[in-house]
Amino acid sequence: TKSYCNFPHHPNHEIFTEIYKTYTLPVFFFLSVNLLDSRTVMGDLGWIAYPKNGWEEIGEVDENYAPIHTYQVCKVMEQNQNNWLLTSWISNEGASRIFIELKFTLRDCNSLPGGLGTCKETFNMYYFESDDEDGRNIRENQYIKIDTIAADESFTELDLGDRVMKLNTEVRDVGPLTKKGFYLAFQDVGACIALVSVRVYYKKCPSVIRNLARFPDTITGADSSQLLEVSGVCVNHSVTDEAPKMHCSAEGEWLVPIGKCLCKAGYEEKNNTCQAPSPVSSVKKGKITKNSISLSWQEPDRPNGIILEYEIKYFEKDQETSYTIIKSKETTITADGLKPGSAYVFQIRARTAAGYGGFSRRFEFETSPVSVAASSDQSQIPIIVVSVTVGVILLAVVIGFLLSGSCCDHGCGWASSLRAVAYPSLIWRCGYSKAKQDPEEEKMHFHNGHIKLPGVRTYIDPHTYEDPNQAVHEFAKEIEASCITIERVIGAGEFGEVCSGRLKLQGKREFPVAIKTLKVGYTEKQRRDFLGEASIMGQFDHPNIIHLEGVVTKSKPVMIVTEYMENGSLDTFLKKNDGQFTVIQLVGMLRGIASGMKYLSDMGYVHRDLAARNILINSNLVCKVSDFGLSRVLEDDPEAAYTTRGGKIPIRWTAPEAIAFRKFTSASDVWSYGIVMWEVMSYGERPYWEMTNQDVIKAVEEGYRLPSPMDCPAALYQLMLDCWQKDRNSRPKFDEIVSMLDKLIRNPSSLKTLVNASSRVSNLLVEHSPVGSGAYRSVGEWLEAIKMGRYTEIFMENGYSSMDSVAQVTLEDLRRLGVTLVGHQKKIMNSLQEMKVQLVNGMVPL
Ligand code: AMP
Repeated sequence: TKSYCNFPHHPNHEIFTEIYKTYTLPVFFFLSVNLLDSRTVMGDLGWIAYPKNGWEEIGEVDENYAPIHTYQVCKVMEQNQNNWLLTSWISNEGASRIFIELKFTLRDCNSLPGGLGTCKETFNMYYFESDDEDGRNIRENQYIKIDTIAADESFTELDLGDRVMKLNTEVRDVGPLTKKGFYLAFQDVGACIALVSVRVYYKKCPSVIRNLARFPDTITGADSSQLLEVSGVCVNHSVTDEAPKMHCSAEGEWLVPIGKCLCKAGYEEKNNTCQAPSPVSSVKKGKITKNSISLSWQEPDRPNGIILEYEIKYFEKDQETSYTIIKSKETTITADGLKPGSAYVFQIRARTAAGYGGFSRRFEFETSPVSVAASSDQSQIPIIVVSVTVGVILLAVVIGFLLSGSCCDHGCGWASSLRAVAYPSLIWRCGYSKAKQDPEEEKMHFHNGHIKLPGVRTYIDPHTYEDPNQAVHEFAKEIEASCITIERVIGAGEFGEVCSGRLKLQGKREFPVAIKTLKVGYTEKQRRDFLGEASIMGQFDHPNIIHLEGVVTKSKPVMIVTEYMENGSLDTFLKKNDGQFTVIQLVGMLRGIASGMKYLSDMGYVHRDLAARNILINSNLVCKVSDFGLSRVLEDDPEAAYTTRGGKIPIRWTAPEAIAFRKFTSASDVWSYGIVMWEVMSYGERPYWEMTNQDVIKAVEEGYRLPSPMDCPAALYQLMLDCWQKDRNSRPKFDEIVSMLDKLIRNPSSLKTLVNASSRVSNLLVEHSPVGSGAYRSVGEWLEAIKMGRYTEIFMENGYSSMDSVAQVTLEDLRRLGVTLVGHQKKIMNSLQEMKVQLVNGMVPL
């Protein structure tokens, strides 16, 4: 795109063409709201310049020949310049941190004939806060300086000759603002500048729905490191599972989602909303006798899925505490065993794969009255039946209560079935003979002969089942192979390929899944071990634990179907995206893993193989613990090595007591969690690098620990060291780790203190050679070693071809070379720093 820029004050009085770079910004999640954009103001900007012969407005046109406001000044030959340009008052619209983007060109003083003495290559930007537009008479010294602005690229005579103008873009932010608005001022002290545009904006985290909770548009906080904790509101027809929260960063990004809402019973999650089958609206009575009432009804107007069955609840009028539930796949039923001449109330609701819809309104029908004939001799029979049945019911109820306590609110196992068998029409809330059809219900409350009460769930080792197939079907839903579409291979598991694909369950929309397959020719033990993982996974229900959709066991290949995690395993993902996340994002990942582990330890499950390779990460950067196995846990892990006692253990991740005498506990999982923290903060670095397992065991036993990863907040490294306490009882518990990380997330400034680079290395063991002494034979080798190999060419092209020349590189140089990612800049600068002070690399003795 082209535009013209006229420099009447320029010594050459050149008119030249500018090649504007088109700044196509990547699609950020943040919303920026303009408070001022000088390019879009059509009329007078109302800015004031003084002295009058300083800054001047020139009529320019943009690439579409639309007029734009450009201010310029070029008093490079004159002494003592002090030229001010004041904007009009800008309302901050409630934002307390604002951003100012300047586009400008600046003349290179070196290229000015004789102008070197007085010529400047910078200008200053100021602001002054006020509640209204009264403040035009502000004195210079009342303005607060924002920054001195320098050009990345200044133009020279040569550029003028080429008719090229180098446009600079600089962004500064100001805050906290406390008044309603402000003025900006630009001070020139003798440079040759054209200020092409000024855009003032603030950032918002845009309203989103995440985990079924709605988070409002949120103006970012005043502090550049501040995270605002924002509570979400559950979308219609959903309820809080764990209070949903997210954090709005100063950059306008939503970070660290915590908690979630769940669709209410009967509502299905679809496109971030909950919908359900609408209630049955019309119910008609059919045949009525003295003991029975037949009903028929129509499918709900909006079934929102395939209706799997109907639930019909009925009770004798005014006797609501004792009711009967019948389930039917048809739209007709006959309720029998009713009292003659009595009114009964009926309500019906439909169930789809998502669950139940709401009950219909109450429909009241009456049985036929008893005829005189019917109440003669024969009436003795019902009395006997009733007496016997009442006896059986009482017995069943007593047994039921003894066995199941208060499980009735949720549906019980055989205790309720027994009651149902005894007398179907006198069942409380849960029970009825079809309870067995719902594996979820049974799974929740009735396991392997033990009755489980809600809230005290514990993990059940599938080994305790005589028949492992029973365990699988107890904890995992059987899926028909025809519901699964396999798309591509995404990994290799011990038992066969891991694929991505789609699952289409009846009445549900299709969704992406991961499918683990059992390769052909498996032994019975392999099949059992393979499905063992599903028996374990199926017992868990937590946002940070990989969710099992179900298994395919009735056809071949045997498969385990889980939710799909777009970013795959965490170690690979971090290595691929080295240096690209903010500390808060990394802490968010760690928080998720800790929360999943807290859940597992609460359930009494010890993972034994917690490592970044066994964590999966999805497109929202939510981390989930995966890889659950039985004996094979450690067999299929390539990191696992045989110990002297014959077991296979991933040495680098495992607590010393677990290596030495197989004492695997949640406390040994905490040790592994510390190693995962180290892996995350070092973007997938291998713990203890290339040391041998034997050396690792020895060093750890002698009290040595991994050093802090580069740029690691001190609070996180301290937490790692706590996890690596020799005495397992001194290690933090997972719930303490979660609260600690929550605290850090709420107060991100606590993450600003990094482990001091010099203390980080003062105790290190293995020596590293300094720059230029042959540690790295070439710049390429060095950059490769710190995983910055992508910049080798740029370094070479710009004359940094030897390690000696590299030693001189500054941060400014890196920016100039195009190393714009802060994470990469830090990585390179830190590596140089380490090499320069002859740092060593190894482990820190505790
Ligand atoms: P595993 O056998 O569980 O170690 O899986 C082998 C590999 O398959 C993992 O390292 C992942 O890269 C990939 N994988 C496994 N499960 C999933 C999933 N649910 N979503 C995405 N990728 C997965």
